[in-house]
Amino acid sequence: MNRHTNRYVYSFGGGAADGGADMRDALGGKGANLAEMSRLGLPVPPGFTIAAEVCGYYNENDGAFPPGLEEEVAEALRAVETHVGAKFGDADNPLLLSVRSGARESMPGMMDTVLDLGLNDATVEGLARGGGERFAQDSYRRFIQMYGDVALGVDHGAFEDILQQRKDARGLRLDTEMEAADWRAVVASCKAKVREALGEEFPQDPRRQLWGAIGAVFASWRNPRAETWRRLNDIPADWGTAVTVQSMVFGNMGDDSASGVAFTRNPSTGAREIFGEFLVNAQGEDVVAGIRTPRALAGPDAAGGTSMKALMPGAWSALVDTLNRLETHYRDMQDVEFTVQRGRLYVLQTRSGKRTAAAALKIAVDMVDERLIDRAAALRRVDPRSLEGLLHPTLDPSAPRRVIARGLAASPGAACGRLALTADDAEARARAGEDVILARVETSPEDIHGMHAARGIATARGGMTSHAAVVARGMGRPCVSGAAELRIDAEAGTVSAGGVTLAAGDVVTVDGGAGEIIAGAVPTVAPEPGADFGRLMEWADDARTLRVRANAETAAEARVAREFGAEGIGLCRTEHMFFDDERIPAIRRAIMAETGDERRAALAEILPMQRRDFMELFDIMAGLPVTVRLLDPPLHEFLPHRRDELADMARATGKSVAEVERRAARLREANPMLGHRGCRLGLTWPEIYEMQARAVFEAALAVGDARGTPVVPEIMIPLAATGRELELLRERIDAVAGSVASEAGRAPDYIVGTMIELPRACLRAGDLARTARFFSFGTNDLTQTALGISRDDSGRFLDRYVELGVFERDPFVALDEDGVGELVALAAERGRRMRADLKLGICGEHGGDPASVAFCHRLGLDYVSCSPWRVPVARLAAARAALDAKARAR
Ligand code: PEP
Ligand code: MG
Repeated sequence: MNRHTNRYVYSFGGGAADGGADMRDALGGKGANLAEMSRLGLPVPPGFTIAAEVCGYYNENDGAFPPGLEEEVAEALRAVETHVGAKFGDADNPLLLSVRSGARESMPGMMDTVLDLGLNDATVEGLARGGGERFAQDSYRRFIQMYGDVALGVDHGAFEDILQQRKDARGLRLDTEMEAADWRAVVASCKAKVREALGEEFPQDPRRQLWGAIGAVFASWRNPRAETWRRLNDIPADWGTAVTVQSMVFGNMGDDSASGVAFTRNPSTGAREIFGEFLVNAQGEDVVAGIRTPRALAGPDAAGGTSMKALMPGAWSALVDTLNRLETHYRDMQDVEFTVQRGRLYVLQTRSGKRTAAAALKIAVDMVDERLIDRAAALRRVDPRSLEGLLHPTLDPSAPRRVIARGLAASPGAACGRLALTADDAEARARAGEDVILARVETSPEDIHGMHAARGIATARGGMTSHAAVVARGMGRPCVSGAAELRIDAEAGTVSAGGVTLAAGDVVTVDGGAGEIIAGAVPTVAPEPGADFGRLMEWADDARTLRVRANAETAAEARVAREFGAEGIGLCRTEHMFFDDERIPAIRRAIMAETGDERRAALAEILPMQRRDFMELFDIMAGLPVTVRLLDPPLHEFLPHRRDELADMARATGKSVAEVERRAARLREANPMLGHRGCRLGLTWPEIYEMQARAVFEAALAVGDARGTPVVPEIMIPLAATGRELELLRERIDAVAGSVASEAGRAPDYIVGTMIELPRACLRAGDLARTARFFSFGTNDLTQTALGISRDDSGRFLDRYVELGVFERDPFVALDEDGVGELVALAAERGRRMRADLKLGICGEHGGDPASVAFCHRLGLDYVSCSPWRVPVARLAAARAALDAKARAR
């Protein structure tokens, strides 16, 4: 890492820059974009960025800087002094600096920042001459506080206490009521605090301050909250952060100054309007901290004489112009930090704005219409996983709801869950399987793990750009922020509002779309995706080659699947059809039967119902392929477990309790997933498969007649390991088809295939393909059998395995490409060698995981099949996989 490639320091300012937007890796998002904006001639305070490779050097060399850096920094600093016309450390006209982190990908609030650097007992007087005594002393105390906390390790709370004591002593409520003398006194106390904590004076030498701050920011790459963020967002530890040093501008120089955050479009809805907040006479951190409530930049709340447009028309029109230029230049929605210093606009940062799934969709589609981006770019702008959130339920508008508090609609969607008042409690409850709503006065980066564990978030403080709002939106969690009526007492474990007091563990609902916090649970309704969704999905369908089917067995699921664009059913798990109250007695009689005839008689009662099931599915799928899997689970799943139920069953089947118990004992599986199930059951208890095959054929003929085009079902045999199993079962299925044909006077058309769920099946795929016309990879079982990890109890240790880096992600969620994936590849290859037109699909949970879908595309499978709600996710993921492949080929 200590290789001095070219240079460490990149200057920007005065309409030029050494770097540019394409240098994110070296300069971080912030540094790269500041350079780019400087080149565009936008009003950026001059500065320089120290490349991220120095972060690695610093952290690996005990806080040492690489040789040559000091000279580069000195030279860059001289350039800044020239641009600004002020000198660093000069008592009359001091240049002040900000020192900020900036990684390749945004890590909001995770690392440290120091502002107002360069102030000391002498320069503060110089600053007072230009900006007034009150402003200068306020800036000095801000600097001591930040530097003391970040670079010297003095507890932040100690400084806050000093401030509060002064306010209390003077009977003041707000910082803005403090006078110059108050700040001067606070400065003195803060310096005394540093002396007491460190046994030495607060550093007065600006250069020492500068290097202290640069080191602290590099070190903050390794703080625990940054580490958590990196883990959650898959950011490699060796990227490091760049450090940007920039001349300060001040939004707190009076009523003609302000700080704010502006989005070029609405990040909640995607509407094409300037959106954001600003605070007059305030520094940037005041806007984000949510201490004073900022004003809306635009929209109905901003009407009247207090809008930025009315208060500072010159700066407003410069802002509008800048936002337009930035969006056109970057061809994406931008999130911009700005400061107005005495009527003059400065831009401090621009980045692609975080947005809700709904906004991402609308912005992507709108930008295609505006000819800013093409369809392929639009497909890349929407994260497939986010679609699931978009399609998620909202609250049933007709259901009664007891709203106890209202706040900002910070992130849409609705969620119910048990109340947790600390991030740790939220995490613990989620781990125990509870749905959780996290309620905090405000959130900070320390709460990330709890926010991640929660289904929804509510805060008492903070605006639309507060930490809670920004992070929840990014995570796709419903969030209500700034619900001021909430009285949250984390110590007592209670939340009260609207005359109700709730305790941790009580059920609450948050409606992030309406900004409401509701006592109790409220029923939800399915969302209706709008026209933008339909258009993006059409573009995805044009781009993809992989087909997408759904796993569905009920009419309702099949309908949802079709609405979401499924191109067939890839897995109908027929066992789910047996649990119905009407059917289970007959199933149990079949299980208890002594002879084949007895068993067939019991199953005959199920036949018409099963036939109806299939007719309904064939009808809904209207000619699209339907794969019906014959019974898979072990029979003990259909037997009762309790003694009283066994007695009932004995009565119902005309057997003694002892006989029922004996049979139940014989069928019980220690590990049913590897036992008497799947095609093993089909071979040893053939009557069940015969009944099911008959139901499929009769339903296919009936629906085919009604539709006027034949229905060609795909009959799928589960858990085969050998070619022989398939041969034997196909003979039986063909025989049933023969009888149905002779009864109906015409032969049903169908194909027989198999699930691939066992390593042996992968190895001997050629044998299986002699009989099977299609393979469907049951990657749930294949993961279980390949890894020797049970599907049912792996939760107990898999999290730890992921933490330890044994697996990158839970292999039951994201396909283990190196291991299970290789088995799939091998089976696909060997199967196709035997049968060139072998159809290949996947129907394990991985079929709805974007990374696994991309893997299936690369392998050249024909389709993926996933739960109906994830069909759009898979369609988009498949499109992106196809685009990626094209890009690679170029
Ligand atoms: C599988 O094993 O991947 C599969 C789809 O079947 P099931 O989940 O029903 O075992
Ligand atoms: Mg399976």
